[in-house]
Amino acid sequence: MADDGENFWTYCAHCGTQLGIDDWPPIVEMATDGGETDLHSFCDEECRSGWTDTE
Ligand SMILES: [Zn+2]
Repeated sequence: MADDGENFWTYCAHCGTQLGIDDWPPIVEMATDGGETDLHSFCDEECRSGWTDTE
């Protein structure tokens, strides 16, 4: 299994808060854009919707 990026797991994509590396991010969003898959993790539902709104 390829594991070329772990930072997206450890930081909230919206506010940049560091999430516990041992904790599974509460919310993970997968966005597919032009064949590229982007994963983003968020602290909570609020950050997720904030991120979605500013996209
Ligand atoms: Zn956040």
